[in-house]
Amino acid sequence: MQRLETDEGLEDARVRARVYPYLKRTIDLTISLFLVILLLPLFVGVGMALMMSRSMTIIQRTPKMGIECQPFSELSFATQWRVFRKLPILINVLKGDLSFVGPRAAYSCEMCSYCRSEPQARLRIAVRPGLICDWWVRRHISLDYVQEVALDVRYVKSMSLRKDIGLALRAIPGIVTWLLWGNAPPVYPAEVRILGVRIDNMSMNNAIDRVMNMIDSPQAGHVCFVNPHNINQTFQVPEYRRALDEADLVLADGFGTKLAGEILRQPIRQNLCGTDLFPRLCARLSEAEKKIYLVGAAPGAAERVADWVRQHYPGVVIKGCDHGYFNPMEEREVVCRIAQSGADMLVVAMGVPKQELWIRNHLAELNVPVAMGWGGLFDYFSGRIPRAPLWVREIGMEWVYRLIQEPGRMWRRYLIGNFVFLFRIVRERFRAVEVSSRCNRIGSQN
Ligand code: UDP
Repeated sequence: MQRLETDEGLEDARVRARVYPYLKRTIDLTISLFLVILLLPLFVGVGMALMMSRSMTIIQRTPKMGIECQPFSELSFATQWRVFRKLPILINVLKGDLSFVGPRAAYSCEMCSYCRSEPQARLRIAVRPGLICDWWVRRHISLDYVQEVALDVRYVKSMSLRKDIGLALRAIPGIVTWLLWGNAPPVYPAEVRILGVRIDNMSMNNAIDRVMNMIDSPQAGHVCFVNPHNINQTFQVPEYRRALDEADLVLADGFGTKLAGEILRQPIRQNLCGTDLFPRLCARLSEAEKKIYLVGAAPGAAERVADWVRQHYPGVVIKGCDHGYFNPMEEREVVCRIAQSGADMLVVAMGVPKQELWIRNHLAELNVPVAMGWGGLFDYFSGRIPRAPLWVREIGMEWVYRLIQEPGRMWRRYLIGNFVFLFRIVRERFRAVEVSSRCNRIGSQN
C-alpha cells in the first residue's frame, strides 16, 4: 500500500513506535511464551481430539493485516468450543503478528474507502495490532467504523504501558462473559414485548440488512426506534401505540430498553441506538448508491446533515431536505416533493410521536420504499447537540448528559419518565411471576 511519510502525526507515532514497542514486545514475548508452555498439554489435547474426530481442518487461518499492512494468518482451532478455539492465537503473539493490546487487526479485504481517503486512519497500521483493542472493550455500545478508527488512531498516538494495562483490565469482564457464554449463548427471541410494545429483536447488522431489503421490496415500509421514553408515550397516545403495532420494523433503542428486556426475561440482542446506526446504514447506502430524503428539525439542520453525509459517504445521493416545522398548507408541498424525489429512503426526524403518526398517515402517498422515524437524529449530525463521550455511553448514562444539555426540556422525560418506566417494568415482572405461579398451582391441583 502507498505510504504517506508526511502525514500529520504519522512520524510522531513512528518515533513513539520505536521506543515503547521494545518493552511491549518483550512483555508480549514473555507472557505468550509462558502461556504457550503452560498450556502445551491443552494444545496437544485439542489437536488430538480434532484429529480423532476426523475433522478436515485442525487449525483455521483467517487472513488479517498486521503492522504496516503486512498480511498474516490469524490462527484458531477448528472447534465449536470457544474456550479452546482461540488458543493458537498465542502463537501469533509469540511470532510477532499480534500484540496482546493494540489497534484492531483488520481483515485483509477491509481497506475501505474511508481508510483510503483518511490519512489519519493509516496510523492504526503503524503499530502491531492487538488481541484486545478499544473497539472490543466497547463493542456493546455499537461503535460505527469512523469512531472505531478514531479510537485506534487515538490509541496509537497515546500508546503507553499504562494505557495497555488499563485496556487489558477493562477487557476482563468481557473475556469472562465471552468464555462463559461461549458454549451456551443466550437465546434471543425473534420478537420481544416490552409493556405491550412489540420490538424486533436483532443485531445492528441484521437491522441494516432488513432496511436494505425493504428498499428493494415493492411494499412501502415504516421503521421506528423505541426507547423507554417512547414506550411511556404509548400509554398517553393510543394512536402512537397503534402506529408501532403496524410498523414493519421496531428497533430497541437505548440502555433502558435493554435493561427492561433483562428484567422481563426477554433478552434484547443489542442496543440499536439510532444515532449509532445512522452512519453504518449510510455506509451501506453509499456502497449501493441509494438516494435519501431528509425531513425534520429546525430550518437548516437537515441541510447540515446532508453535508455531513456527502462528506463521509459520498455514494449516498441526497434527493432533498425539509425542516420539520411545516404548517398544514406547506405539508402538501413537502409530501409532493418527497413523492416526486425518487428517494429510496426517507428519514423523518420530527420527534415522537409526531414523526411516527406522520409517517403512518402519509406512507401510501410518499412513494418511498422505506420511511424511518429518527427522533433527534438531526440535532446530533447537524452539530447542534454534541454526543455524550464514549465512557458515558458505555456505562448507560447518556440520558444524564442529555439532561444536563437541555434540562428544561428533558427533566420530565428523564427524572420522572425513567422512574415511571422502571416502575412499570418491575410491576410487569411481578405480574408475570404471579401469573406463572398461579398456573403452576392450577396445574398441580389438576
Ligand atoms: N421537531 C420537528 N418538528 C416538530 C417538533 C420537533 O422537526 O414539530 C424536531 C426537533 O427540532 C428535534 C426533534 O424533532 O430535532 C425531536 O428531538 P427529540 O430529542 O425530542 O426526539 P425524540 O426523543 O422524540 O425521538
